[in-house]
Amino acid sequence: GHVSSASVGESLDTVLMLYQNLIKRGVRIERSFDGNTTILADHDALNQVWTNLVHNALQAMDCNGVLKIKATSSSDELFVSIEDTGCGIPPNAVARIFEPFYTTKQIGEGTGLGLSISADIVQRHGGVIEVDSAPGRTVFTVRLPVDAASN
Ligand code: ADP
Ligand code: MG
Repeated sequence: GHVSSASVGESLDTVLMLYQNLIKRGVRIERSFDGNTTILADHDALNQVWTNLVHNALQAMDCNGVLKIKATSSSDELFVSIEDTGCGIPPNAVARIFEPFYTTKQIGEGTGLGLSISADIVQRHGGVIEVDSAPGRTVFTVRLPVDAASN
């Protein structure tokens, strides 16, 4: 893909803007972006990752909840976390969520491909996706090297 230097915070804001109409009444968004969130990467591919994670978070919540999006960076690593107050992922399912076609959603609501594609993209950039979930709280954290030029 096309590699460029761009602001991850701006990409996240664009994704949130695109989802504005789908965000249910009562879902609140908290965003905090700090530090230097500009990285060298395939941003079209990364935008797919942000979209998939935001989409999952919104699908996991009913008509109320909080979606928290955070971006921070150290000298060599960028952290983006997307947290929701939704149903959570059962412990026995966590091991399977990155498998292609694994879904707990109805036909038409999910294909089970979002997380497997996202994990591939992040891995291609030399990063990882971590998940931490309990009933009422799920956090996906993407960690990327800041000079993660990808192929
Ligand atoms: P899909 O969204 O099409 O089902 P994904 O690969 O994006 O496929 O996600 C796989 C599964 O992981 C989902 O069906 C759901 O069971 C679980 N999951 C992912 N994100 C969340 C989340 N934020 N909260 C609860 N469950 C989640
Ligand atoms: Mg999904």
